[in-house]
Amino acid sequence: MWIKESLKELIKDKLKDYTFVVASNREPYIHKFNREKITYFRPASGVVTALDPVLQACNGLWVAHGSGDADKKVVDANDCIQVPPDDPKYTLKRIWMNKAEEAGYYYGFSNEALWPLCHIVYTKPKFSAEDWKYYQLINERFANAILAEIGNKEAFIFLQDYHLTLVPKLIKQANPKAKIALFWHIPWPNPEVFRICPWKNEILEGLLGADLLGFHIHYHADNFMETINHNLEAKVNKVTSTVTYQGTETIVRPYPISIDYEKIFKEASSQAVASDIDKVKEELGITSELIGVGTDRIDYTKGITEKFEAINLFLEKYPEFQGRLVYIQIGSLSRIHLETYKKLNDDINSLVERINWKYSSDNWSPIIFIRKYFTPQQLLAIYRMANICLVSSLHDGLNLVAKEFVAASSEDKGMLVLSKFTGAAHELTDAVTFNPYNPEECAKAIKQALTMPEKERKSRMEKMKANVAENNIYHWSAEIIQALLRLS
Ligand code: UDP
Repeated sequence: MWIKESLKELIKDKLKDYTFVVASNREPYIHKFNREKITYFRPASGVVTALDPVLQACNGLWVAHGSGDADKKVVDANDCIQVPPDDPKYTLKRIWMNKAEEAGYYYGFSNEALWPLCHIVYTKPKFSAEDWKYYQLINERFANAILAEIGNKEAFIFLQDYHLTLVPKLIKQANPKAKIALFWHIPWPNPEVFRICPWKNEILEGLLGADLLGFHIHYHADNFMETINHNLEAKVNKVTSTVTYQGTETIVRPYPISIDYEKIFKEASSQAVASDIDKVKEELGITSELIGVGTDRIDYTKGITEKFEAINLFLEKYPEFQGRLVYIQIGSLSRIHLETYKKLNDDINSLVERINWKYSSDNWSPIIFIRKYFTPQQLLAIYRMANICLVSSLHDGLNLVAKEFVAASSEDKGMLVLSKFTGAAHELTDAVTFNPYNPEECAKAIKQALTMPEKERKSRMEKMKANVAENNIYHWSAEIIQALLRLS
């Protein structure tokens, strides 16, 4: 079983002679002005949790968009800063973008074209030639920043996600010795869906510059290979899970991402979290005997309105739970510059208002919707006091919240109610699963989880905890690093 220490050993032992580079849109440390003072924080992100210790152990390089308002103030002439800022172990190199570039590359092509294209939730992607131009420009900027550091040396490059599809080819062309992996954190659709992208071949060719492409589940890896089959003159070998294109080979594999199970489990069971629970209950005025929770970025892929409609139906079908169950939804704002997201926020607000108005009594309303970001620490108390966690994504590459709840939830209560259309549902097979497009099924799943015999609940949760403990985030990193090492 992989733990932080064994991963560090692997890196010290095997990676010490190479430059190890990670690149992602989001940076691992963000500097902000706090009145006159500059402070920094580490954004909550699975990738940062996974790769920060790796880079710390091998003195590597992380290239990312400098998005903090004080980021420029703290870098050197080469746009670099040593991080963690209080105990420097590796280099963070920041890429800059002006507003038009960010609008085109990030909000536009990444999040209005690729995001809806890859999540099958019936939100139409918007393809704009102007956004595509900026996307190409910023991908070139990332590639040049990496190349400026590695030159023509042999190096390991680990790229993250759909923001950087063109970078593998750009690096490989300039430095064929670079060993490149890219992890795709969202679903990959079938060829029928992908073929509507006007720049599909450029994206596929860009990605095939990588030696290794990782997806969360087999199904997405298979979809990718099928997409290649339909669009490029490439040799796709399903047995070896490889694609050969213009003489170079790319390995395509599933590596479901995960969490630091031990850390979350230990912290969630601590006395500090136990006292936080009392505080949170008091602050929110919770007296109900049963508590449901959900944590999502406010995004149309997360099925938040569908979940509230299902709760509405649940209270209608099973009125004995009225007054007994309160559902707390944490919703952190996301991509709010985009119209679709603004509208979703409005829809959620009016739905919560309608349902609460319909059922509320003097001292009880069924839904508490908190539209703000919670730190991972604050989320532990929320998970710990819950009888159910309801994850209702209409389509999700993995869904880390599901795994975090499994790790944090109390042995005495707690059951995961999980959409079948999350990558996590492929691993957490002991959860109560449901189709989020079917409110009847979701309402029944909530009832099943809340009334499950204690022995069955415990046994299912124990199995899920054991699964996440073993397939933790260090396992994910180690598997990918070992695959890269085998290529060398
Ligand atoms: N998260 C958080 N605070 C919030 C909302 C979310 O720390 O208020 C974290 C959550 O714990 C999880 C991540 O953000 O680690 C979301 O990952 P997930 O895979 O569930 O969905 P994504 O937002 O990446 O689509």
